[in-house]
Amino acid sequence: MEPARVVIVGAGLAGLRTAERLRRGGYDGTLVLAGAERHLPYDRPPLSKALLSATDDPAAPPVLRTAERLAELDLDLRLGIRATALDTGTRTLTLSDGATLAADHVVLATGLVARTVPAWTGLAGVHTLRTFDDCLAIRRAAGGATHATVVGAGVLGSEIAAGLRGRGLAVDLVDPLPQPLCRVVGEEVGAVVAGLHRSHGVGLHLGRAVAELTTADGHVRGVRLDDGSHWATDLVVAAVGGAPDTGWLAGSGLALDDGVAVDAHGAASHPGIWAVGDLASVADPRGTDRLRIEHWTAAGDLAATVAGNVLAALRDEDPKAHTELPYMWSDQYDTKLQCLGLPRAGDEVVLLTGSLDDGVFLAAHVADGRVRAVSGAGIPAGLMRCRTAVADGVPLAELVALAPWDRKKVTA
Ligand SMILES: Cc1cc2nc3c(=O)[nH]c(=O)nc-3n(C[C@H](O)[C@H](O)[C@H](O)COP(=O)(O)OP(=O)(O)OC[C@H]3O[C@@H](n4cnc5c(N)ncnc54)[C@H](O)[C@@H]3O)c2cc1C
Repeated sequence: MEPARVVIVGAGLAGLRTAERLRRGGYDGTLVLAGAERHLPYDRPPLSKALLSATDDPAAPPVLRTAERLAELDLDLRLGIRATALDTGTRTLTLSDGATLAADHVVLATGLVARTVPAWTGLAGVHTLRTFDDCLAIRRAAGGATHATVVGAGVLGSEIAAGLRGRGLAVDLVDPLPQPLCRVVGEEVGAVVAGLHRSHGVGLHLGRAVAELTTADGHVRGVRLDDGSHWATDLVVAAVGGAPDTGWLAGSGLALDDGVAVDAHGAASHPGIWAVGDLASVADPRGTDRLRIEHWTAAGDLAATVAGNVLAALRDEDPKAHTELPYMWSDQYDTKLQCLGLPRAGDEVVLLTGSLDDGVFLAAHVADGRVRAVSGAGIPAGLMRCRTAVADGVPLAELVALAPWDRKKVTA
């Protein structure tokens, strides 16, 4: 293999996993990993879970590799440095410290930025959560607060509500949709999450939107909903989604489509440019659809594919198409909710075992008689046994035939 230069932009999970896979695959050329945050690459899931509810102060983020283990990768690591422009013709990056870097391959891994509500910009006491520094800021605000309002009951908002409740704050959770996590697991399973919140004393305001935040001296003091109800609050966390961090690529000519548009190999519109992680909007090899997945496992899976394809390009070999079975989990209170595949609104939800009311269950999400996804809580081994069935989209009867789901009784 000729000596080459690979630059990875974004030192989060997907960027780091790409670097690891390149080295593991035998790449021994220059490998730059540039990241806007000053921290070593760290893991985000604990930010809305253990780190939010814990009362002792975390000294550092939960790093994905220690400094010693990072050194083993022999990276040119540039932290606290933001890429500000990309020349797609020459694959030259401009960095915020004024440096320019030309590369044989550029892997874009800049993730998401938290969406904000423009009317709330600049209000003290209003937060979003994407980074470790955001998490510290929320923890500081929670320290002096008695009541928190979380706006948005998706995975992140639901976890934040549980985390703040775990710190002893009174918590209200607002979402215009009928159940928490509706978009991720559908209404029936979302109702399980609603039950969890209620049983822990969180006030749920579903099917409702925030009309305004009431303020005093530039600080949020209360929340008014579209039904006129109002309560006092001293902390608001807006968990209203994230947007792909592509602003710096405007004018580069790179094809963008709800993220960086990549083909089934992870390749962007210009040769030698790739995208991974939450940023990548991946073409479905079977059709014209694009899929941008914001889950931890997916970030590592696509990074592995792209690293393999960068190596293949350097070795003049054929690239491989990315195939993956989406998987997500969410920890709320002491329940781990899991989902394999991507349920959609309108799927029929069929209970495979357990009970939605008890919160220990496996449920198939079915469309046209075929399994699209399986979600569950408290039966992790059973859920993982559904992998092939979900990946193949088998008829429901074939999935049902995998019973019994209790691990102890399973012999196959
Ligand atoms: C609080 C939280 C909890 C989560 N919990 C779960 C969970 O329980 N289960 C699950 O499946 N998934 C979870 N996720 C999602 C999962 O963490 C993400 O899918 C994963 O982090 C995506 O990795 P990434 O590398 O694409 O993006 P990121 O981890 O966001 O990394 C992108 C990095 O790029 C940097 N960057 C941005 N722009 C530039 C630039 N121009 N130049 C240089 N650097 C730049 C950013 O600062 C950031 O450090 C959670 C996410 C969050 C935020």
